[in-house]
Amino acid sequence: MSSSGGRKLAHVALLPSAGMGHLTPFLRLAALLVSRNVQVTFITPHPTVSLTESRALSTFFASFPQIKQKQFHLLQAEKNSFDPFFNHIELIKSSGHLLPPLLSALTPSLSVFITDMTLASAVIPITQAISLPTYVLFTSSAKMMTLFLSYPSLAGSRALDDLEETGVIKIRNLELMPKSLVPPPLLQKSDNFLKKSFVEESGKVIESSGILVNTFVSFEFESLGKINDGEVLERPPSVVAIGPLPPYDSEKSRSQLAWLDDKPAGSVLYVSFGSRTALARDQIRELGVGLITSGSRFVWVVKNNIVDKEDGQELEEVIGHELMERVKEKGLIVKSWVQQEYILSHPAVGGFLSHCGWNSVMEAAWNGVRILAWPQNGDQKVNADVVERIGLGTWVRSWGWSGEKLVSGAEIAERIRECMGDESLRIQTLGIKEDARKAVGFGGSSDKGLTELISKWNQF
Ligand code: UDP
Ligand code: UDP
Ligand code: UDP
Repeated sequence: MSSSGGRKLAHVALLPSAGMGHLTPFLRLAALLVSRNVQVTFITPHPTVSLTESRALSTFFASFPQIKQKQFHLLQAEKNSFDPFFNHIELIKSSGHLLPPLLSALTPSLSVFITDMTLASAVIPITQAISLPTYVLFTSSAKMMTLFLSYPSLAGSRALDDLEETGVIKIRNLELMPKSLVPPPLLQKSDNFLKKSFVEESGKVIESSGILVNTFVSFEFESLGKINDGEVLERPPSVVAIGPLPPYDSEKSRSQLAWLDDKPAGSVLYVSFGSRTALARDQIRELGVGLITSGSRFVWVVKNNIVDKEDGQELEEVIGHELMERVKEKGLIVKSWVQQEYILSHPAVGGFLSHCGWNSVMEAAWNGVRILAWPQNGDQKVNADVVERIGLGTWVRSWGWSGEKLVSGAEIAERIRECMGDESLRIQTLGIKEDARKAVGFGGSSDKGLTELISKWNQF
């Protein structure tokens, strides 16, 4: 803790998990805390899985010299999962015993620690042992959090067995969500990474001092209410919605996309499935056909591999020569990292064909861009359901999970035309943008939530 003009200031350390979907909200939170005069130390697990993460970190620390970076050198470990990001989460967790010396060397001493929900079971016992109040940043939706918090009791109960009949996940008297939204590994009888993680992490998250979530009250009113009113768990840690976490300045820098500049307002569809979801080759090609026949302008980020370091193929190899030529007529196609914030905030962009990773959803809300949801796996159907209910976009449920079926180009084209032509959806999303800005603006619900937390931390 340190003081400024006699006032105590909190010193907060942040430890993110693996992948841009986890790193980005931590970086945004760090930037936000600094803007509120909080002292921030950012702990970076080293190495990172993707090149994109290490580049994002370099740019970030260059823009925020006042944020102290501490490298957390990870041990080597066996790789148990097919998913490199899941392996890395395990690696960070198994290196947890290296944290105490790192933390005790920090000056001034820490007031608060913030970590990711995927790391709670490794971190919380360590910070508890040194009486360091620890908060969890939940990087998905509040609706996903209802499932996350209730999962340990569900997994050990008949509720999952009964699903065949009811088709609905129930906790106590509450109908939580239809089975069709739940990430399939969580419903499997056999052990798997996600199941194990949900049980272990959720069990520790409830021992945290509180949970921060990148959402806002008017967007997920019901889910936040269910948790904080004790309907999901009897005594949950307090959950504070602090989103949408605003992008920081260096995220908005112009990239390779001058192409957008002369396109009419709202006429371009942005197509991306996030930082770690690769579509199958045949589905990528159908999507290409869909984009061309939709008649819409588009910026399409093609992703062919989960991890950028392993993606050596040329774009033309992935989508084929003929499609490549046709795509150029109406669209811009890239096979690299783009500044999504720059694209979504560009006036030419009116729609977003998205997998509904939660950061993407919040970014669409922040910029008032409507979503055509195409969830692929994990928490994405739960998030797509939130998007559809609140009126930020549309979702074709019959497209299923990734790999369940090949969605044809003709069908994709039709849905794109519907979404881009939907005037009432356009107006609705502008209203959501206004609500998002109000939530984080002075006196808004997210602003108040964060202000209260920081004044509490200043007392620690
Ligand atoms: N993103 C980006 N450029 C890309 C792909 C992704 O800037 O080419 C950003 C996106 O804006 C978001 C994050 O990476 O902040 C991805 O997180 P999200 O939760 O949307 O999905 P995930 O990648 O975790 O599936
Ligand atoms: N809701 C509300 N006020 C708001 C936002 C939502 O009363 O500002 C209501 C809305 O009518 C909707 C319900 O809360 O029926 C669920 O909203 P949402 O889909 O955002 O929450 P979730 O389904 O994620 O719990
Ligand atoms: N998740 C978790 N523990 C883990 C890995 C993932 O709680 O060790 C959560 C994750 O944040 C999301 C859901 O499980 O809410 C589905 O994860 P996904 O496969 O989409 O991975 P993510 O990109 O979110 O890490």
